[in-house]
Amino acid sequence: MDSGPLWLDAETMLKLGRDTVDLVADRLTRPWDATPVVTSLSPEELSARLHERAPEEPRPFDQLLARLEADVLPFMARNEHPGYFAYIPGCGTWLSALGDLIASGLNIDVGSWGLSAGPSQLELVVLDWFKDWIGYPADAGGVLTSGGSAANMTALACARESLVGAMSDRLVVYCADQAHSSLARAARILGFRPDQVRVLPVDDRYRLRPEALSAAMDADARAGREPLFVAAAAGTTSTGSVDPLPQIAAICRERGAWFHVDGAYGGFAAITERGRATLAGIELADSVTLDPHKWLYQPFECGCLLVRKGRQLLDSFEIHPDYLRDTKSAVPREVNFADYGMQLSRASHAIKVWLSIQYFGLAAFRVAIDRCLDLALRAHERIQRSATLELMSPASLGVLCFRRRFGDDDEDRSERLNSQLVRLLARSSIGFVSSTKLRGRFAIRLCVFNHTTRWEDIEAVLQHFETAAVDDAAASASVIQHDRDPRLDEGWLGAPRVDPAAIKRLALFAALGARDLERVARMAREVRIPAGAAIVEQWDVGREFYVIVDGTARVFKDGNPIDDMGPGHFFGELAALEWGASFSYPRLATVLATSDVRALVLPGQFFNELVRDAPSVGATIRGAVRTRLPRM
Ligand SMILES: *Cc1c(COP(=O)(O)O)cnc(C)c1O
Repeated sequence: MDSGPLWLDAETMLKLGRDTVDLVADRLTRPWDATPVVTSLSPEELSARLHERAPEEPRPFDQLLARLEADVLPFMARNEHPGYFAYIPGCGTWLSALGDLIASGLNIDVGSWGLSAGPSQLELVVLDWFKDWIGYPADAGGVLTSGGSAANMTALACARESLVGAMSDRLVVYCADQAHSSLARAARILGFRPDQVRVLPVDDRYRLRPEALSAAMDADARAGREPLFVAAAAGTTSTGSVDPLPQIAAICRERGAWFHVDGAYGGFAAITERGRATLAGIELADSVTLDPHKWLYQPFECGCLLVRKGRQLLDSFEIHPDYLRDTKSAVPREVNFADYGMQLSRASHAIKVWLSIQYFGLAAFRVAIDRCLDLALRAHERIQRSATLELMSPASLGVLCFRRRFGDDDEDRSERLNSQLVRLLARSSIGFVSSTKLRGRFAIRLCVFNHTTRWEDIEAVLQHFETAAVDDAAASASVIQHDRDPRLDEGWLGAPRVDPAAIKRLALFAALGARDLERVARMAREVRIPAGAAIVEQWDVGREFYVIVDGTARVFKDGNPIDDMGPGHFFGELAALEWGASFSYPRLATVLATSDVRALVLPGQFFNELVRDAPSVGATIRGAVRTRLPRM
């Protein structure tokens, strides 16, 4: 029988399958302690190993597996490592991997009911489980996606289609400065301009402040804009914090805005008793993002969007071209998942979720997540008792932040030395953590999600941070960059507008060399504000940075004076600097001229660049951010 060049008989399939399973099972059960969690190589080195033209002739399977084993698989993260505490770990189960094998082996396409009724029903079953876990009603709808980013984008598109239809530059999206960057990217993809994404300040536990949200929404409405979409977090990436969901729900309801909850990793904590309490209010959301490939132990990829009024998802995405007319269901109960999002061809992610949960039982997943919550709490307490470590954010949904104390208040030194400890750990085989910035202060982040993690794995990492030797001299080379706005040199050419000598007289710029002074002079604009006028107003949107040259001003927050300023003082650094600078951070205070004021104004983009390139300016600004941000 000639079945074509790509055909294999069952015996060959089994043999190749067994060899493959041997390789994977061996790697998954190999002891952890011999290698670092992540091993990497440079692009040049890997290109030298791997780059070649596609071969015309067949090659033996065992040689191909051997090459993967030698040149590919060693150079990546071991996601199943019990010491993997960085970012959001993705620790799968073997059962889910087998589910993926079935899905791809049979090449299931869950786009239409007509072509995959069984897998479509299975996806409905899994979605019903998720709906039930977060307390959604039976008529809620949903769709499995490639991940949380896709789910967040689908949510924003669904909100816009449901509430207004066509895109308009009056629509505004709101999130906290702790929100996941995928939301800002979703807005960008969908055509929202930077000034249509409002990034809002958080409270001392890194939660979106309801009164800041309502004030910003009302200010936008007064200015003729339309508050469209509020993205709250149920588990922020940096600290695991959960925004006050019931209050945000009420604010959105009053103003007719869409209330979305990004529970990408945190949402599945709802299957535990503690998690459910932490996530109270999630059921009020118009839509919820979940990522089974994070805390539900599924292999990449598997995300999920749930929508409270299930019909809205279909109404937002349904399209019937002529060439797909045969697939349109005659019976309304037949779900065509291609009409619930942007994908037409869709892998079956439901099979792996269904298989793993059926095999282990939901209780096993509940225990696994509970164990992570316990371990994170124990780490929190252990750090509080430590003489050398400092807790920087409490354990919340498995995430906590801390750092080593170095006995003085020198933030830059603390950042250098803690960065160095993070790098040293990454090179060891003990574990792997990542870092973040909290109110401008460097923080080490411990994310306890893996079902393989035991207490001794955490203890070993904490001991590393307590005791590993640091080298002050070497540390300066290893600072981890957190600034997110790398675009440079967006300016205009032409003669200097402000005298460089006048700029040098300002303390902030006193240490600048001639070249930097020239750049500031070229980029700066001088403004004059009469006594009694506002220089910036709270909740306005703007990214310029101001330095007062002459005159005095008073700073008001929510109508109350909080600071006085005079020549040499500056403001606007938050709106220009924080990651929200890529979008639109609203002004957090009003600055009123109390005499005639002359001020220098720098564009946000250029200011960002200056802070990075000019150490003296950077240090002053970072210091100001650290003291001012907590007061906001
Ligand atoms: C991981 C994550 C995302 C993005 O999800 P992907 O699956 O990586 O696309 C969005 N929001 C939060 C809170 C996350 O943790």
